[in-house]
Amino acid sequence: MHSENYKELPKVNKSGFFEIRMESIGGFGANLAGKILGEAGVLGMGYNGSNFSSYGSEKKGSPVKAFVRLCAPDKEVRVNSPVTEPHILVIFHEEMVRSVSVTQGVGKDSVVVFSTGKSPEEARDYLKLHGGTIHCVDAMKIAVEENTRVNTALLGAICKVSGFIDPDVVKDMIKKNLGKKYSFLIEPNLKTFDRGYNEGVSKYFEPDGKYPLIPFSREGQKTGYFNQNIGGVITTPGNSATKDLSASRSGWVPVLDRSVCTSCGECDITCPDYVMVWGEEKDEKGKERRTLLKYNYQYCKGCLRCVEICKFHALTAAKEYEVDKKIIQDGFTRSK
Ligand code: SF4
Ligand code: SF4
Repeated sequence: MHSENYKELPKVNKSGFFEIRMESIGGFGANLAGKILGEAGVLGMGYNGSNFSSYGSEKKGSPVKAFVRLCAPDKEVRVNSPVTEPHILVIFHEEMVRSVSVTQGVGKDSVVVFSTGKSPEEARDYLKLHGGTIHCVDAMKIAVEENTRVNTALLGAICKVSGFIDPDVVKDMIKKNLGKKYSFLIEPNLKTFDRGYNEGVSKYFEPDGKYPLIPFSREGQKTGYFNQNIGGVITTPGNSATKDLSASRSGWVPVLDRSVCTSCGECDITCPDYVMVWGEEKDEKGKERRTLLKYNYQYCKGCLRCVEICKFHALTAAKEYEVDKKIIQDGFTRSK
């Protein structure tokens, strides 16, 4: 007998699975979101299924993929490979599109849940999507406003677009996962979930040849038994210059006001990521002095440690979606 929450899966692939892939960055809770969805599907709705994640060095800022598979209760789950052609693809941060090929395997029957303030039309061009449905939800803004994390808002959006995942079952799993230890987080997270469920906008795009279909591909192993590097050798020297931590920010950025900055350097000593750009400038007496010129936001992960340390109040924590794009581009502002 099926669970009272059981519904026929609306579509399955050749192997009989409904599949979800989440493309995220460490620290946004994709792993937990996958676990909650898997538990909701199996324990709360009576499907058979699995969930697992794939990540490298488990640290904030590294790419993370989370996978969920659901199938009929009488079917065995004997697959543990990544989801290559997802029915639902979830993208946790706009900026990660620049460094990771997130839309691989997305076809016209897929739904892309995209955490963005863009419209579906803008999002299609931004993602260069071949075709399919785009569901835009500003999950980061919701999370900042509710003081929660982006994952709960996206869980709401996933339930909405799936057409079969029961939002009440998922909300029960959120409560269960936060439990007594984090009971103070239950209320804001349920509100975040509801907003994620209600605030998205969807649009279907016919594959019209504007952008090519990108098949899924796995990066092959470059080194092995015969060509392993000698321990400690850095094969890509200078790679810290090309890194981009923009996708690690969770809605907040420091804003530098150069009109009150004394160039004391405390922020630079505190920052783990070399964001500050220094140069020589003449002071009012015409003497050359070392000066903090700007922030290079490419390297900023938004931890806000620099804001805490600055005793001259030259740095403020600002909601990134409210900050003028020019300030991010220039790397500073001047209040006077
Ligand atoms: S700590 Fe504040 S005053 Fe000192 S250099 Fe940094 S921003 Fe300027
Ligand atoms: S928030 Fe400040 S301390 Fe943190 S990475 Fe950005 S510039 Fe560095």
